[in-house]
Amino acid sequence: MMHLKVCKFGGSSLADGNNIRRAAEILRADEARRFAVVSAPGKRFSGDVKITDQLYECYREAAEKGNCDAAFAPVRRRFVSIVEELGLEGFDIAGILDEVERQIVENKSSDFTASRGEYLNARIIAAFLGWEFVDAQEIVFFNERGQFDEKRSYRLIAERLKHCAHAVIPGFYGMDAWGCVKTFTRGGSDISGSIVARGLNAELYENWTDVSGFLACDPRIVNDPRKIEIISFKELRELSYMGANVLHADAIYPVRKGDIPIRIKNTFRPEDEGTLILPSKKYVSHGNLVTGIAGKKDFTVIFLEKQLMNAEIGFARKVLSVLEKDGINFEHMPSGIDTLSLVIESRYLADGVLDTLIEQIKAAVHPDYVRVLEDIALVATVGHGMTASIGTSARLFTALSQAGVNVRMIDQGSSEINIIVGIDNADYEKCVRAVYYEFFSGAEAEE
Ligand code: ADP
Ligand code: ASP
Ligand code: MG
Repeated sequence: MMHLKVCKFGGSSLADGNNIRRAAEILRADEARRFAVVSAPGKRFSGDVKITDQLYECYREAAEKGNCDAAFAPVRRRFVSIVEELGLEGFDIAGILDEVERQIVENKSSDFTASRGEYLNARIIAAFLGWEFVDAQEIVFFNERGQFDEKRSYRLIAERLKHCAHAVIPGFYGMDAWGCVKTFTRGGSDISGSIVARGLNAELYENWTDVSGFLACDPRIVNDPRKIEIISFKELRELSYMGANVLHADAIYPVRKGDIPIRIKNTFRPEDEGTLILPSKKYVSHGNLVTGIAGKKDFTVIFLEKQLMNAEIGFARKVLSVLEKDGINFEHMPSGIDTLSLVIESRYLADGVLDTLIEQIKAAVHPDYVRVLEDIALVATVGHGMTASIGTSARLFTALSQAGVNVRMIDQGSSEINIIVGIDNADYEKCVRAVYYEFFSGAEAEE
């Protein structure tokens, strides 16, 4: 196979001209790095506004007033100063920005507007590197149902990029079935990078960000957590789905199907090894029981109990059809012989929706008992090592009880490499720390 790496740079790595120079140096340092997928400029300092957020503001202003003069001004300033910092004389940024502003007002599309951060950054970076700019609209497609169209995208990526020595491609968006711009969900440039890597059958997908790899837990909760050297796709999917948002949870699927490894790297410390993410079959255990811990706050648990529930055919289906009818997504559904719990993000249940839902469930399945737990956080402890080792959950629950964390719900069944506990929102940080210090021996507790 020809050496080929696809490199995605996140917004934090491309926030200003200096950072873009750094990214360019990284790209030039290895001739296999022939394709760059880029995000919009992110925050330069804490409290700064990401270009993507500013663009959503432009959309709102344009919808309200018919122009986005106020909200577009900081976007304009930011890109003009990037072009100046890069010394790109002759690059007509003013003309391109005028055209983009005009299209934002004319198109009246939130996705189109949000996508312009990636578009503009990719054009600038392509000019700076002297590489070809290839628009994501030419190579990333969605079908009529709004889902990513794999076949068409991979075919077009291979065809369009086959004869390109080098190219810069904007992340985050593609083209829908009607020829309009459509974005992925927030953080979606990770998905674009993964798609391009798969379409080109790259040897490696490098994801360049502002941390030296995937850490065993959120660095905002535990000070300087241990870095994960190697992690499997399966473990990573569980962790990113549960809130470890270094990599978008949906970015795993394309490369995973193509058996292409990912390496998370730090733009600001390129010499650091980073984290290697491998297909499960190529993954060799690193000897740790637990690979990582992640979690999210603000869930509601609806607990149902009914005598002989397990013998009642269609019980779960009836409960789920109530959710389906109301368009409510559930996160987990742990069940016992006569019990079933629904774990749902609280934001879906505001403004009386919870009460209505419970009434509908009662009418559908007549439970003996219904209990609702609100303000629940979920914490996932993930690792292939846990399956082979007896007593992992005993250690986990002992550590939690010693830390004074009240466990309100347990879900161990759904994935064998993941134990999820439901706890009060207020105990979230305490819980993450307790699990971390229990399983990463040698890491000293701060408290
Ligand atoms: P990018 O701009 O490159 O897309 P993101 O901000 O999306 O970067 O993701 C990187 C950030 O994810 C880090 O700066 C860190 O604050 C946060 N993060 C949350 N959980 C973890 C974790 N387990 N390991 C590393 N970083 C984490
Ligand atoms: N710029 C987009 C966002 O802020 C996509 C990305 O950065 O991945 O969500
Ligand atoms: Mg990101």
